[in-house]
Amino acid sequence: MAGEWGPDGADCAVAVTFDHLGEAAEIQLGSIAPDAPVGHHHSVTRELPALLAMLDEHSYSATFFVEAWNFRNYPDAVRAIAEAGHEVGWHGWLHEPWHRSSAAEIAESLRLSLDVFGELGVRPRGARPPAGLLGPHSVDVLAEHGFDYVSIAGTAFGTTLGSAARLPLLPYPWHAVDGAYYVPGFTRLRQPPGEEPVGPAGLLEGYAAIVDDTAAAGGCVGLIFHVPWQDSPDRVAAIGTLVDRLAADERVWLARADEIADWVRDHPADFPETAHTDRAPAW
Ligand SMILES: [Zn+2]
Repeated sequence: MAGEWGPDGADCAVAVTFDHLGEAAEIQLGSIAPDAPVGHHHSVTRELPALLAMLDEHSYSATFFVEAWNFRNYPDAVRAIAEAGHEVGWHGWLHEPWHRSSAAEIAESLRLSLDVFGELGVRPRGARPPAGLLGPHSVDVLAEHGFDYVSIAGTAFGTTLGSAARLPLLPYPWHAVDGAYYVPGFTRLRQPPGEEPVGPAGLLEGYAAIVDDTAAAGGCVGLIFHVPWQDSPDRVAAIGTLVDRLAADERVWLARADEIADWVRDHPADFPETAHTDRAPAW
């Protein structure tokens, strides 16, 4: 059992987080042509403005893990996230999955990213390696490039990663990914595994169970929403409902991912070093 979380001594810490922006992941996955025109993706023109308005309405400062490619292709969107008081984290350059990348490919992804951080004057502190798995790589490379914490799929809630860098870990279980509820092909990530998408009510039920587990374990967790999948008003509204419920839950310190990481770092006796083991999704 870890210590207490946050200024009011909550049982657990929860961050509501967002992944993906623009065409970056689609280019990496090959679902759009490499020479397809970019610059008008629905995640930037439709979903992001709706999410920023909803978060403002519910007074929650969130974390957006953005592929750094967007810093060059959608600089106004990245600035809008930061200027609205949200945290901008790093989600690769073009969503390179770490467990299938070479060390040289990751170094190149970080080099490209650091260049655009400087151009835009927005410096992510947190890193969420794309696809959730470290593979053969150590988080030490992230510390060497100035990141303060890592968010990755895993079960070791609220621990310091067993690495030279001792980076705080914001973990997420695979069923804390919205696709498990919304997207055909991802529904087997649910607990128990599902066959069909279930919609926002099912997502809220699943995420409530994750928060119960996190509070019982005395840990922290990141709940994930993908920006391009928040393409209907009921999905956006569900996030507002989730935020309000978490804010009213006395067991929960609802915070931003970087605030949770700072808490872990500032209370080392409560969060002993633990080795991270990748846990691939049970498809
Ligand atoms: Zn991703």
